[in-house]
Amino acid sequence: MFQFEVIENRGERLVKALSAIEAGRELCTFSGKPVYFEETLKLGTKESFAFQVSHELYIYLDEPYRYFNHSCDPNCGVTPELKLVTLKPIQKNEELRWDYSTSMLEHHWTMKCKCRKENCRKVVGDFITLPKKQQQYYLENNVVQKFIVNMVKKRY
Ligand SMILES: [Zn+2]
Repeated sequence: MFQFEVIENRGERLVKALSAIEAGRELCTFSGKPVYFEETLKLGTKESFAFQVSHELYIYLDEPYRYFNHSCDPNCGVTPELKLVTLKPIQKNEELRWDYSTSMLEHHWTMKCKCRKENCRKVVGDFITLPKKQQQYYLENNVVQKFIVNMVKKRY
């Protein structure tokens, strides 16, 4: 049983917590079908369902994992083992979101953001476009994909 549910709001799907959840909890493990970068380009509006796990490889996320939205100030993150974990205490009915940039390093896809957080970046891009402090926060919390961690280590 998941501690969350997918709901539809004005035609858009989002995921809400069914109860209050503490910080540092595992909620689920993402799964899906492996696809190569070239194939993700054919997905159109569903391109955001493709989760990048290496330079060439993506996972076309199963339901309900594809419905977690992006936030520039998220309450969840995804570990290199693809576990969705809470970064902050969650209230009942709060929307669960993670920062898509923590799995992005492709120099290709960007997404407009309307998360309305104070630190909203307006455009969601690759991990290296994040402010250094925010990169550090995600790295310390182990919610950055391995291929990005390796690249960042080389760079700094
Ligand atoms: Zn935003």
